[in-house]
Amino acid sequence: MPQPRILHPLPAFDLWSLQSAFREHGVKDLHLGSVWQYVMASVPTACDADFWLGLRKQFPGVPQAAVELLTRRFAGCTSRVQSWHSKAARGEGKLVLELQDGQCIETVIIEHGGPKPRATVCVSSQIGCKMGCRFCATGTMGLRAQLHAGEILEQLLHAKQYASPTAPIRNVVFMGMGEPLDNYRAVLGALKALAISSRAFGLALKNVTVSTVGVPGKIRQLAVDCPAANLALSLHAPMQDLRSTIVPSAASNQLDALLREVDEYGALTGNKVMMEYILIEGVNTSAETAHALGSLLARQRALVMLNLIPYNPTASGDGNGYQAPTDAACKVFRNIVAEYRRCCDAPGSASIADAQAGAPLLCTIRWSTVPGQAQMAACGQLALESAKPAKPAQLHDIEDMPLVSIARKVVKQAPLPPLVDKLLWLLAAISGTGAICWIFVRSHQNIVLFSAAEPV
Ligand code: SF4
Repeated sequence: MPQPRILHPLPAFDLWSLQSAFREHGVKDLHLGSVWQYVMASVPTACDADFWLGLRKQFPGVPQAAVELLTRRFAGCTSRVQSWHSKAARGEGKLVLELQDGQCIETVIIEHGGPKPRATVCVSSQIGCKMGCRFCATGTMGLRAQLHAGEILEQLLHAKQYASPTAPIRNVVFMGMGEPLDNYRAVLGALKALAISSRAFGLALKNVTVSTVGVPGKIRQLAVDCPAANLALSLHAPMQDLRSTIVPSAASNQLDALLREVDEYGALTGNKVMMEYILIEGVNTSAETAHALGSLLARQRALVMLNLIPYNPTASGDGNGYQAPTDAACKVFRNIVAEYRRCCDAPGSASIADAQAGAPLLCTIRWSTVPGQAQMAACGQLALESAKPAKPAQLHDIEDMPLVSIARKVVKQAPLPPLVDKLLWLLAAISGTGAICWIFVRSHQNIVLFSAAEPV
């Protein structure tokens, strides 16, 4: 268990800290609203000693004692951008943020094209993670420390500075470093802040997704505390034993209990739950496993949809002998699951579930272009590389791009030998009608093979 971090200054974006500091010093809660409004309107991006000077000008009713307290204990922003990994000054890429105690976290911006370009920010909730998922780079770090709610929100502030004006941030996913429900209070604090200041952040809670491998009792609690936020469950296997080999923390969180919680979450919120499933060749990709998965999901009372993610190389996963299945194998797996229909007699099924009875399971494959895509699609696969020289992040939403433009974008970024480069261009050119095109991309320490097959 890491030592709790004592921050000085505290982040102003931390409602809990503001509230407890006010109470501790006898400042009435009613002034919190003014302070919060000031913080939201000011959108600080640096630890600025003068940050609080304007507070009393705007809100003369805030007592001087409160201003002094804030000046002494709180800063507008407590983190700074250590490095920006991208091909452009703004847009898609990865931010390495340095916290005030020198520790670093990562935040990813992923753009989606289409008629209304937009971006998703993938935020971290912890420094490291103790869940130890065998495919995940963050899991190898162990849990180093918890983030404060304000530090989670500061990631959005920094991301806003780096997002392209033509693809504004519209979604937030807690899929960066850490297990969000293992830092429940801070994550809830960030969600509450987003809920009350959705306009300032330009985000609605319905566009926020919390991704978890499951922490007993916390999914139910999230449904009660913050029903508007969405839930994604990193499932990865339909059987308890198999799941425990991929997600070691599952050993103390039985699958049937976890799925009961998901059903309760569905009943309390009416939200659809995204089931994330990393396809690992020879581990969880057999036809038998696909049938077990289809049968399991068809019996869920909560509305669920399945997102299959071919394993994307990480040092930890590779060390465990993990490999991605072929595209064809992914599709076979998907097709088996998709044959299952929601059970008419799902136990306790009512209202929404009844309306959906007999409907096929919604099942998609997220083809990974580069590691960033898998980080985006599954619960955090980020690991700190901040100490290493910056490498360009190559994050592209393959589902939103025509094949040739994907090839062009990736090849331009990758320092490939000229002959390979020419071959790729040739392949890209003949794939313009939708045939499968294979492209090698250098990314991080890995050579990643990815397929730009037609979107599923
Ligand atoms: S996948 Fe998520 S829960 Fe699992 S180790 Fe990585 S960050 Fe932690």
